[in-house]
Amino acid sequence: MKKLLKEDRKGILPKAKINQANAKLVAPVYVEQDASGVVNEVFCKICGRTILGLVEVGEKRERLVGGVVERTVTVALHKLPLYVVLEIEMEDGSRHWSPACSVCAGEASGVLEEIYTADLARLAETGMDIEEIAKRKPKTFKLLQEG
Ligand SMILES: [Zn+2]
Repeated sequence: MKKLLKEDRKGILPKAKINQANAKLVAPVYVEQDASGVVNEVFCKICGRTILGLVEVGEKRERLVGGVVERTVTVALHKLPLYVVLEIEMEDGSRHWSPACSVCAGEASGVLEEIYTADLARLAETGMDIEEIAKRKPKTFKLLQEG
């Protein structure tokens, strides 16, 4: 089920912007975390594909506990092959980085405003003060080449 952005606690993001992001993005709420706040999955906001996910790392361990085999695996959040980063240039010349998938990256120019709204909502949710950065307006973007 599609999770929708809600108003941030301080009401900095206008309702119209939140509604627009909810309407245009498949995954406006793009971070899936458990009750303790650990991030399990990150989606492309534009299409909803998983771009960061839990991947098994290290060795599996098995032991017998009361006649039942208990299997222990270690997982870590990893970038998946579709993961890309959009470098969004703001009208004031500043920059903002946002994760997406390589399939949608080419269509991002039509939803830059909505992507930025979703990112601001996420930052507000993690406790960041977005009052100043929320005044910025996205102008253009390019794909960030990661080394
Ligand atoms: Zn996508």
